[in-house]
Amino acid sequence: MGGLACAALLAWYGHDVLVCEGRPTPGGAAHVWRRAGYRFDCGTSLFFGLDWQGGPSQSENPLASILQLIDERVDVVPVPDAATCLVWPEESFRTHIGSDKFGAVVRRLWGQRAEAEWKAFQKRAEECAPAASAIKPMAVRFDDLVAVTTVGRSPGAFLKYLRGEARSMVFSGLMEGTVGDPGLRDFIDLLVRGTCGLPSDEIVASYMIQAFAQLYQPTSALEYPVGGPQAIVNALVRGLRKHGGRLALNAHVDEVVVGPRGQAAGVRLRDGRTIGASKAVVSNASAWDTLRMLPRQAVSAKYRDRVAEMIPNNSFMHVHLGFDGSGLDPLPLHYYMFDPELVTDAGWPTICVPSAVEPTAAPPGKHVMHAYISEPYAPWRGLERRGEEYGRLKEERCQVVWNMIERVIPDIRDRVEVEMVGTPLTHSHFLNRFQGTYGPKNLLKMGTLPEAVCPLPGLYCCGDSTFPGAGTPAAASSGMWVANSLVPIWEHWGALNALGL
Ligand SMILES: Cc1cc2nc3c(=O)[nH]c(=O)nc-3n(C[C@H](O)[C@H](O)[C@H](O)COP(=O)(O)OP(=O)(O)OC[C@H]3O[C@@H](n4cnc5c(N)ncnc54)[C@H](O)[C@@H]3O)c2cc1C
Repeated sequence: MGGLACAALLAWYGHDVLVCEGRPTPGGAAHVWRRAGYRFDCGTSLFFGLDWQGGPSQSENPLASILQLIDERVDVVPVPDAATCLVWPEESFRTHIGSDKFGAVVRRLWGQRAEAEWKAFQKRAEECAPAASAIKPMAVRFDDLVAVTTVGRSPGAFLKYLRGEARSMVFSGLMEGTVGDPGLRDFIDLLVRGTCGLPSDEIVASYMIQAFAQLYQPTSALEYPVGGPQAIVNALVRGLRKHGGRLALNAHVDEVVVGPRGQAAGVRLRDGRTIGASKAVVSNASAWDTLRMLPRQAVSAKYRDRVAEMIPNNSFMHVHLGFDGSGLDPLPLHYYMFDPELVTDAGWPTICVPSAVEPTAAPPGKHVMHAYISEPYAPWRGLERRGEEYGRLKEERCQVVWNMIERVIPDIRDRVEVEMVGTPLTHSHFLNRFQGTYGPKNLLKMGTLPEAVCPLPGLYCCGDSTFPGAGTPAAASSGMWVANSLVPIWEHWGALNALGL
């Protein structure tokens, strides 16, 4: 997502762009595959603000800005009310996105006082939101000229951002004096951990406020792309090609070629070909994978230390199912398992049923499901993907995911027609990711040093190893910022004009 966002935007800016994708399908964590008429995905399933309606985008999602510039649409279906089901150890029920209806959920769970606290918390977040989102992602670039595209272009907005109390506060600060109920506090903390992998007392408030502002406003609604997350990927690829860019598949990069002045001068592919880059090389691989592609002497100790300091988040156990839906009540799109024993830094256990809202995901009368839970890499280290020991561990570790699924559809085993189980090794292999990790756990704590995105002259990094981290909007932002940094200020200014920002 980061690399394609960057590439599509660079092609729109008029650069000659080649994307080298190591896998046969573009999209990384957003790619899909089909089997027996079912469409399976890697997990990305929560979307908002993708549809820019053919006019100036009001969306806070940076992907919408890129789609608008490259003039590509992603068809979406609105996710109907009550398509989210929260599953607690004792009970489960449907909930809604949008603050009013969610207030009723809070009342049911923790009582009237908690509901009033939730509303006060919402109000506080709402008051902070204009300042927190005053700087538009498209205005960001990684050089001093960022002062021109942010402060120079919209001094009022920048001042608003500076004055906003959320800028220097951690998210839990927003709860002080508003949320006293321990259940509600834990729940908010859980949402924060699930959204960005950090507890609420370690995450900058402005980052989370934007997420809350987007998801819990009275008018908030989720949407789902027709064709799944691949539809976003395909739109970016169309935009790339339309503007003269190229996409090479099965083009795994083994090494970044470093020129005589210590600059990134191209890439060497696994098949031995070398491709030169006159302007820049952009890596969308994780920081650990990028480091492996660089000759040791070319990289500063500072960058090496930074990567060494990064703590990889867990990977996942995945269960993908195609199953018979006869006789089932309408299923929700998401089940979130709010069992404190299962929730980790890497998010809450999730069951997603895309066919509940988007019928092309499964044959008529059938459903497709992806259930996953965070899983450490360590037990899998060194195992052969087809070996006996691997098979035994896979069988053992997927039971907890099966238990989750049986909790919501008790006779699921009788309904299954297609079944695939994924492990951290699957995730690492098919997504080309170090240890199959979700991304760095401590990224937001590490600050945004220039070496993080530009470890050597001419080499830029984007994707979820760079700020602001994981999630399709965040990865796309990082790609957008690299693209903006590679063009002169007047072209960047032109893009902001074209978007009406
Ligand atoms: C289970 C799960 C659930 C998720 N849910 C959501 C969600 O609901 N909403 C949301 O917005 N986000 C979600 N995400 C996160 C989101 O999908 C990712 O953060 C985002 O897609 C990552 O994009 P990226 O560009 O950083 O990296 P990737 O998607 O990993 O892309 C990197 C690309 O680089 C390629 N590559 C790597 N190394 C090389 C090499 N050496 N040579 C050539 N190519 C190479 C890879 O093949 C891959 O295509 C979820 C992720 C997971 C795993």
